[in-house]
Amino acid sequence: MCDTIVALGPSTRGGVTLFGKNSDREPDEVQNIIIVPRKQYRTGETVKCTYISIPQAAETARVLLSQPFWMFGAEMGANEYGVMIGNEAVFTREKPASSGLTGMDLLRLALERGRTAREAMDAIIRLLEEHGQGGNCGYRQKFLYMNSWLIADEREAYVLESVKSWWAWKKITDHWSTSNVLSLEKDFDAVSPGLIENAVRKGWCKSAADFNLRKCYSDPIITWGAAGKARQICSRDNLALKKGDLTTADFMAILRHHGGREDFLPHKHGGTVCMHAADKLIRRSQTVASLVGNIGSKGHYYYVTGASNPCLSPFYPVFAPGTISPAGYLEGGAEYSPEVYWWESEKIHRKALHHFPAARKAAQHKIQEYEQEMIQAIEEKRIPLNQAAIDNYFSRAGKIVTDLGAQLESLPKIKHNWLYRSYWQGYHKLNGTA
Ligand SMILES: [Zn+2]
Repeated sequence: MCDTIVALGPSTRGGVTLFGKNSDREPDEVQNIIIVPRKQYRTGETVKCTYISIPQAAETARVLLSQPFWMFGAEMGANEYGVMIGNEAVFTREKPASSGLTGMDLLRLALERGRTAREAMDAIIRLLEEHGQGGNCGYRQKFLYMNSWLIADEREAYVLESVKSWWAWKKITDHWSTSNVLSLEKDFDAVSPGLIENAVRKGWCKSAADFNLRKCYSDPIITWGAAGKARQICSRDNLALKKGDLTTADFMAILRHHGGREDFLPHKHGGTVCMHAADKLIRRSQTVASLVGNIGSKGHYYYVTGASNPCLSPFYPVFAPGTISPAGYLEGGAEYSPEVYWWESEKIHRKALHHFPAARKAAQHKIQEYEQEMIQAIEEKRIPLNQAAIDNYFSRAGKIVTDLGAQLESLPKIKHNWLYRSYWQGYHKLNGTA
């Protein structure tokens, strides 16, 4: 499950584009923050995606990817031209194919091939029509789905929603959010040949005039289980609250939203934008990485948590021109490693579950202080955003997390029920974090 939010110039302070996404996937599914340099290719070269190979482009752009460790594609990212994309799993009455390009493959390919939001969207549409979407997107649990994408650059944003190789899109004028539900109804600007005809043929609507994408194609049961509607309402309400003056910090706050509950408890309250897993059936997704971008004429700024639970994780800046991953950042894999930031944060987060909401309050206080100073220094250009600054902020973010870990035992403890305890003990056994 996931939430993606976007706001264009008329909705933001300073007329920039703001973009944010929480990637909600299985706990333990490490998501790495990687930077892939621009590259040229010879005619006839192919690129091996997660399940299939396709012809490679003549040139791929430099990209920032938030990438589940085992796949080619990415859950969200940006490119050197200031294009940002996030995808969402959507559940339709048409069944996904067993192989093809995954939604995350399409996201990465579009970032590599598009210099504007429109070019990136056109790239996804072309690739969808040529190769189709499909393949297992789950890590330990088999999970197949269709996809929607929110795509933005400095001037424009689009929501693109797909069913098999069919698609519909809408140009966003101020702000939008997507959350594991088809968000377009009759309000699309363009639709692919076949999408409406198929719905009429299957009896999901009477005619083209009667066609409504969400109503015709949503799988009612899985869509209800994914509880995207409530999260979409939450993110849109929060975007609307500050419409005209939205900032980077507001986007980070929306990604940390627990439905407005000060007393939020991960074992009790589900369906929030900052998502916490609690069982293997309904609440099996957890926010495992978060990204926020601020794209304007004065600069492009990208911030990632590179860790799960944004309510406990500070954002740090990445992907300034000419920079690489922060010093000390290591990509993770299936096994726990104390050297890997994602895993070390995860170990602390799982201990923090026993000390909610005190742990969240303690972390938030320090995170807010650090982020306020960091965002101002960077976006008001009081410091140059170079490799030294990126290294420094990553190190400070890491210290906030380790300080929280050291503080946990002194915070009030809460009692979990047996089911919740055994759910997390299962993960501890698998990965050795306990
Ligand atoms: Zn949270």
